[in-house]
Amino acid sequence: MDRLIHGLAADDTVRVMAAISTNTVEEVVRRHRTSPTVAAALGRTLTGAALLASTLKDFDRLTIKVDGTGPIGGITAEARPDGSVRGYVKEPLADLPPAANGKFDVGGIVGSGTLYVIRESGFDIGLHKDPYIGSVPIVSGEIGDDLAYYLARSEQIPSAVMLGVLLKNTEPFVAAAGGIIVQMMPNTPDHIITMIEDMVTHAPPVTEMISGGATADDLLSNLLGVIDHRVVDEHELRFECTCSQEKAVSMVAALGADEIASMLENDKGATMNCGFCGETYTLDEGELDGILAGI
Ligand code: ZN
Repeated sequence: MDRLIHGLAADDTVRVMAAISTNTVEEVVRRHRTSPTVAAALGRTLTGAALLASTLKDFDRLTIKVDGTGPIGGITAEARPDGSVRGYVKEPLADLPPAANGKFDVGGIVGSGTLYVIRESGFDIGLHKDPYIGSVPIVSGEIGDDLAYYLARSEQIPSAVMLGVLLKNTEPFVAAAGGIIVQMMPNTPDHIITMIEDMVTHAPPVTEMISGGATADDLLSNLLGVIDHRVVDEHELRFECTCSQEKAVSMVAALGADEIASMLENDKGATMNCGFCGETYTLDEGELDGILAGI
């Protein structure tokens, strides 16, 4: 089971988050049938969104949108503090040869452009306020670096962001996925900042630790070494979409009588596809007649 934790370190002067997202990323890339490079890009973005959402309040949600010029065409990942995430890319089959270092060319497939982080409050309980939207130019397209740049520039929080997706050639294709975010606070002592910078520079890839059996808490212990930490909150991390047959019906109803009449005449029904999860909803003639009668 995937886990998401957030906690505090160094006498509560450093905020830390860690996630194991292997199964969640596997489910999302399987639903969208992505290429390997897209799987790495989408998996990193989903894990980053889950980590950033882990400290939000109930009923909040956080969305990362990566709007780049590369072949992937754009990435959207949405996460809630209860550990549920969903996401998609514009071009799931886009792919590139490995980068010079032998790793997936995530930076190349994302390209240059803008990274957006959108925070919304009370969306599900009808208290929909204006969202807070922050944005920065994409610096590397590798996602982790871009989120670190966003946090430093837009939210003034110096952060280290480590995200990883390790794939294999047989199903399930995602061998390991996860991430760590370490955030300095205004009262973080200088010697702690120096120690953490050194540890982050020398840390093994998160996927190596996860492949070796590390839990989310182990990721933090391994990274922080002698620096103490405590877990404040822990959740299961999982894929979850908010679409439903009921929502598909209300979306069709919103199209209006003329449009529904033409669907009945031309298609004898309606088929809707959820972009977030790939689920298909079908409405037959009887259901469309019923919607029409209710308008
Ligand atoms: Zn859906």
